[in-house]
Amino acid sequence: MQLPEELRQLYQEVILDHHRSPRNYGRVEPHTHDAEGYNPLCGDRLILTLRIDNSDTIEDIRFEGDGCAISRASASLMTEAVKGKTVQQVHALFNQFHDAVMSDPDCVVTDAGLGKLAVLLGVREFPTRIKCATLAWHTLEQALDGGGTTTTE
Ligand code: ZN
Repeated sequence: MQLPEELRQLYQEVILDHHRSPRNYGRVEPHTHDAEGYNPLCGDRLILTLRIDNSDTIEDIRFEGDGCAISRASASLMTEAVKGKTVQQVHALFNQFHDAVMSDPDCVVTDAGLGKLAVLLGVREFPTRIKCATLAWHTLEQALDGGGTTTTE
């Protein structure tokens, strides 16, 4: 079952809005974690900086870089979604989001706690764009895993 047209338009609007006015754009200074992500297939590049406090909670997170609308909107939505969450909660959310994005386009995904991130599930119909949608998340995992650069290849 594909998305109803109304929903598809709403998703499109949210993605364009986050692309034009990305939330949490810039750098967190001082930060405790950072990483760079690159998607050579599309040319998306982003740098993530974040600060994690003593109780393992993401206190602040920002991104900068250049990329397509999907990659920027995804990074913007991700920073909103993970701010204030613990590292453990973030891993769980990443797995949930990843499973949903990789699922069959015909399979109906119930919200299941994804909230606004669900707007990105439209990419399931365009396999090459899945890497654009997951780049920010892989970069976040890289940052939590000690930093460095991650590529989607
Ligand atoms: Zn892209």
